Amino acid sequence: MAVSANPSGPNTTRSDELFARAAHAVPGGVNSPVRAFSAVGGTPRFIAEAAGCTLTDVDGNQYVDLVCSWGPMILGHAHPAIVEAVQKAAAGGLSFGAPTVGEIELAEEIIDRVDPVARVRLVNSGTEATMSAVRLARGFTGRSKIVKFSGCYHGHVDALLADAGSGVATLGLPTSPGVTGAAAHDTLVVPYNDLTAVEAVFAEHGADIAAVITEAAAGNMGAVAPLPGFNEGLREITARSGALLIMDEVMTGFRVSPAGYYGIDGVAGDLYTFGKVMSGGLPAAAFGGRADIMEHLAPTGPVYQAGTLSGNPVAVASGLATLRNATADVYERLDANADRLATLVSDALTDASVAHRVQKAGNLVSFAFTDAAEPLTDYASVKASATWRFAPFFHALLERGVYAPPSAFEAWFVSAALDDDAFSRIADALPAAAAAAAAAPAPGEGDR
Ligand SMILES: *Cc1c(COP(=O)(O)O)cnc(C)c1O
Repeated sequence: MAVSANPSGPNTTRSDELFARAAHAVPGGVNSPVRAFSAVGGTPRFIAEAAGCTLTDVDGNQYVDLVCSWGPMILGHAHPAIVEAVQKAAAGGLSFGAPTVGEIELAEEIIDRVDPVARVRLVNSGTEATMSAVRLARGFTGRSKIVKFSGCYHGHVDALLADAGSGVATLGLPTSPGVTGAAAHDTLVVPYNDLTAVEAVFAEHGADIAAVITEAAAGNMGAVAPLPGFNEGLREITARSGALLIMDEVMTGFRVSPAGYYGIDGVAGDLYTFGKVMSGGLPAAAFGGRADIMEHLAPTGPVYQAGTLSGNPVAVASGLATLRNATADVYERLDANADRLATLVSDALTDASVAHRVQKAGNLVSFAFTDAAEPLTDYASVKASATWRFAPFFHALLERGVYAPPSAFEAWFVSAALDDDAFSRIADALPAAAAAAAAAPAPGEGDR
């Protein structure tokens, strides 16, 4: 979709040059697809630096950040306590390939916060966490099949790319070439929030199902909360048939409450995956859960899992400092900021007569362009919404200094660093953005 040039909009000369240059060195110019702005068009902004809730790009433009590195930066960017902890750790050596105290402390911090987690293994990305949890579930149960939900994203693990959300949704891929039939064969995909469908796959395949993996609350098809009773139902069905319940809290963990979504609905999984917030912006992630299951990992058990840089001391220092500074007051501010953002955006869309629903899952927020009477509850209904209104909406915000996620299928992430000034910049940008959403031509109406 062509983006109308706005003569009063920001100068993006340097970002334009860098994006062109990057394309000759990096596929698509980016190291993770959603950064390329494919779904919204235009040039991705190359970021020079960030502080608090503000991003500064290479042309000197500033933006209120509502992406927060896709979740991690709940305290805002370059938080002094985190920077200090990272500098101190780095000065003491970057990696040893041997155990350190910080790894125990980070594992204990996670165990203290999330009751069903008794053991934690650190890894380097959320993808690695879910991949390892799935392997462990298969090794522990001796079964092969995994149930996942349409629109839930669990990283780019081969077996979990089937009908995934996030960037896979943004690019409209059903799954990915390069994933073999064998890898996808053991994945059963069912609609989110549909316990009847879950019962049906268990009726047919129950004896072969190692685990159900779900986002504790979905955040990769926009925000879609589990309906009341859904996670409880998964708990009951899996327990009844000897399958494990893997709660993927890579996005929700330590963001939506001190204990993640578990802190909101109290439904205990057997295994958990974490990432994003728990490492405060450096590459670290984790999986954990019941001691009897986790002890099946090497070296105590037979299920192999390893990592040269796992438990990296600098990433661990960043994660520990982030969690220790994520106090009750921070969670209150995250919730309040999410509510304030949702109200501002919703009011602006209403004023511009744009039919929409505010989607919320804890303090994850997104906006679905739909005239549905209730928030959307599954991927099919999110895909059927007027996502074509999103690109002009997004660009009008960006031109006015508000950095929203560049896809209708992503949640918006608040930080505790958003202040009154940031909210007034958002409020100032919204009327034009809502008008752009209202004026967006439906597919087929454009290019006349
Ligand atoms: C981001 C995400 C992942 C993947 O984490 P990476 O660190 O990007 O590999 C897995 N699951 C969920 C729910 C996520 O949001």
